[in-house]
Amino acid sequence: MSSPGSPGAQPGPSRESVPAVAPATPAQALAELSAGNRRFVTGIPRHPNQDAGHRAAVADGQHPFAVIVGCSDSRLAAEIIFDRGLGDLFVVRTAGHTTGPEVLGSVEYAVTVLGTPLVVVLGHDSCGAVQAAKTAVETDTSPAGHLRAVVDAMMPSLRRAAAEGVTDVNGIVDIHIAHTVEAMLDGSPVLAAEVAAGRCAVVGMSYRLAAGEVRTVAAVPAGDLAGAAADQTAAVA
Ligand SMILES: [Zn+2]
Repeated sequence: MSSPGSPGAQPGPSRESVPAVAPATPAQALAELSAGNRRFVTGIPRHPNQDAGHRAAVADGQHPFAVIVGCSDSRLAAEIIFDRGLGDLFVVRTAGHTTGPEVLGSVEYAVTVLGTPLVVVLGHDSCGAVQAAKTAVETDTSPAGHLRAVVDAMMPSLRRAAAEGVTDVNGIVDIHIAHTVEAMLDGSPVLAAEVAAGRCAVVGMSYRLAAGEVRTVAAVPAGDLAGAAADQTAAVA
């Protein structure tokens, strides 16, 4: 039952402890991630929002500015490669960034309940999950146990790669990232509606293990976000 006395009450806390520059739009969120990755790549990270004071400040509520749907690879830790801290990123990771119902539900929670303006699909070169799927296709075999479910979930991307004549693992990775962006929007009308309303964007990024840098390989919508990232890069360089 609603209370007429508090029609505008916020369901969650909105506190001054959240960084004043917390990104509120998809473009701002992407620019912030790009800036953090550049700090990481160049070896001058700030490690923001990792101190005890911030830990206490965000204990009562979270307002992450980006959802990261990434591969579980141990070298792909989101807060490290984007140089962020507690309360900044809402992270969902599976081997090969496959997106079943629980993953989509987690993304929908972040976007609709927490108001997160950006969803990033994060893959990387030399991905073992992509290699496993590639091997399964080439040898016409299936992995044992539940790993089969991971490989099966990646088959649409493998079929697209085959249709485009792409056979190297890193080329397949980029196709899989772009396909994951599309599959999430197709599989989640809730997410698609948020994107259509301009409240959220979905970006696919590919990470290079050795260099530590990410590059965008897909974005929905496309135009403004690419400009924001380019502007940020120019400002930092
Ligand atoms: Zn991987």
